[in-house]
Amino acid sequence: MRLNLDEIFDIFATRGHAQYGGEPITQLEHGLQCATLAKEHAATPELITACLFHDLGHLLHDLGENPTEQAIDDRHEYEGTKCLEQIFSPAVTEPIRLHVEAKRYLCAVDPNYRASLSENSESSLILQGGPFSSEEAAMFIAKPYAKSAVKLRIWDDRAKVVGLETPDLSSFVAISKSCL
Ligand code: FE
Repeated sequence: MRLNLDEIFDIFATRGHAQYGGEPITQLEHGLQCATLAKEHAATPELITACLFHDLGHLLHDLGENPTEQAIDDRHEYEGTKCLEQIFSPAVTEPIRLHVEAKRYLCAVDPNYRASLSENSESSLILQGGPFSSEEAAMFIAKPYAKSAVKLRIWDDRAKVVGLETPDLSSFVAISKSCL
């Protein structure tokens, strides 16, 4: 699918009101909360943009709002990346492509991490292949942009707060344009 930046913002504005797979917030709220956390932690414009768009893949398919419930892995990290890599550099797209692997990594290296996952995220973890072995974890973290993917993942997991006020979509246009 070929989309320009305006069209990507449009997808979030029009389709972003879908529920975020089994969580009590919308896709749009989730992306905004994730990008806002990145901004608060002084992340690069590329990583803030990655946070905003990391779940674009969930909005591109017709599998319904929560494929996990049907035991389907929508492989959203790859669908989103395919679309975004036509306009953005790997500094934006690699953390997105790796954000599911980052969950599998964190489960392997941090015993408290898995227990902190939401119910839906735990269910999708199993569909995504479960925690990495220690060898897989070591291979993962050596990949380019893996550390950025881990940061994105930690903000992703926290970006599920019901009713949290954030800056709106338009406040991220200039940041994401600067990454084109
Ligand atoms: Fe997410």
